[in-house]
Amino acid sequence: SDVLVRASGLQVRFGPVRAVDGVDLEVRRGETLGLVGESGCGKSTLGNALLRLVEPTGGTVEFDGLDVTAAGRRELRALRRRTAMIFQDPYASLDPRRTVAESIGEPLAIHRLHRGRAARRARVGELMEVVGLNPDHGGRYPHEFSGGQRQRVGIARALAGEPDFVVCDEPIASLDVSVQAQVVNLLVRLQREFGLTYLFVSHDLAAVRQVADRVAVMYLGRVVELGAGASVSSAPAHPYTEALVSAVPVPEPARERTRQRIVLTGDVPSPADPPSGCRFRTRCPKAFEPCPDHDPVLQPTGPEQAAACHLHGVTDR
Ligand code: SF4
Ligand code: MG
Repeated sequence: SDVLVRASGLQVRFGPVRAVDGVDLEVRRGETLGLVGESGCGKSTLGNALLRLVEPTGGTVEFDGLDVTAAGRRELRALRRRTAMIFQDPYASLDPRRTVAESIGEPLAIHRLHRGRAARRARVGELMEVVGLNPDHGGRYPHEFSGGQRQRVGIARALAGEPDFVVCDEPIASLDVSVQAQVVNLLVRLQREFGLTYLFVSHDLAAVRQVADRVAVMYLGRVVELGAGASVSSAPAHPYTEALVSAVPVPEPARERTRQRIVLTGDVPSPADPPSGCRFRTRCPKAFEPCPDHDPVLQPTGPEQAAACHLHGVTDR
């Protein structure tokens, strides 16, 4: 099948908080699926739930045909090896008291790969080279590297188990603008080289559309729009996506001057108490009569595009 990861009706609740509240989503083999939305909309929780790093409270996740939500210890172990996570803040995700070679080598020990000291050291050197680090610097500590280099260490560590699926959670958000492009280019090159499938999580639509084949837009625990990156950003079908797109500056000065920004008013409602009907209605400039009473289903709005909005026909979950 061309689907590597499939979430069906996925829910993650933390007490009353519905962080992920009924998500159906497929990640296709070899693609980069961008996942975009404001902070607190459930993107990271969704990424974590796909890897079963947080326990779903409802629905299922399949990874390469395996039901992850029902996996036993052995299957989970295989899943851990075939999946990886790249974090926003490489400083927080690396142990400051360990050399970077120890951090990169740890997954090798956990998964019993490249056993023996010499083999492990050689593999760590190889991984450092692959991400553009000097393999002679393996004995150094995280604080001796720049932010961009530390993110490379995090990436080398993520690649150690030879994963198929990598969740990149805001991988460039805490880096200097000058090194963001380098890290993005590295991720793109590694994807090609190793046939990786990415979920690229970001609050920044501009960053996402640079790398993503398809984009999923999240709002209050739900996917509200899904489609090819180009169509989602040039012809958004959901009013929330429209607002996100309108906030991205355009490179041409003439067009930038006339850009119509849609400014959303009102706070994001609490995920413990989402509005009835369409959860976006309290901020939606286009809300109309059916919106408070009917909870829209994701429905096709074009080839390779779908949106959960009554403007495309009234539906109810
Ligand atoms: Fe706006 Fe209604 Fe569409 Fe929701 S369903 S996004 S409130 S128009
Ligand atoms: Mg997050």
